[in-house]
Amino acid sequence: MTGGRADPPQIPTPGRLTVLAGPTAVGKGTIADYVRTHFPGVWFSVSMTTRRPRPDEVDGVHYHFVDDQEFDRLVAAGEFLEHAVVHGVAKYGTPRGPVERALREGRDALLEIDLQGARQVKEAMPEALFVFLEPPDWDELVRRLVRRGTENQPDRRRRLETARREMASRTEFDEVVVNDDVRRASEELVSLMRSRRATR
Ligand code: 5GP
Repeated sequence: MTGGRADPPQIPTPGRLTVLAGPTAVGKGTIADYVRTHFPGVWFSVSMTTRRPRPDEVDGVHYHFVDDQEFDRLVAAGEFLEHAVVHGVAKYGTPRGPVERALREGRDALLEIDLQGARQVKEAMPEALFVFLEPPDWDELVRRLVRRGTENQPDRRRRLETARREMASRTEFDEVVVNDDVRRASEELVSLMRSRRATR
């Protein structure tokens, strides 16, 4: 260094936000897990939820687990980018601050959220990339719902009705990825995230 003018501080190109949503039981969580493991460059938002942790879940990694009162306080303080009651049971929300920070730092950020949340993000950040994950066909979704769900007939019928309604919302999305194979679908998702970044 010879006393010349200091270089201006490097401001990174802002990152791009991608929202992954889709019908109940399509396998969003599985795709998210695959991307988390195989593409460490992708930044994941950690949601807040009022539901109880499952045995294998770690607070601060899979979710921030909070009680109802704390969740409502954060809503009132405007701390969420989006929030919703999912399956009529628990509240879920995306903390705004960490997402904005990640994007400022130039990271490719991914939100894996439900359809109500995706619509709210579209209002707030229409420039984000919205990806709809769909099953290879309707019968496969029914099989997945039956496998994971209760054998109780009315409950299954309700879930299927919800899934059918959710499938219709694919037209609101920029891209559709078919979950025919976890690895293939995950790679397609990440390549969409990256190609968008290159063309904008
Ligand atoms: P689970 O309780 O099985 O982890 O997730 C249930 C549902 O909540 C999934 O459809 C998941 O995409 C959705 N979800 C997870 N986090 C959020 C969030 O921050 N906001 C919204 N709107 N949905 C979320």
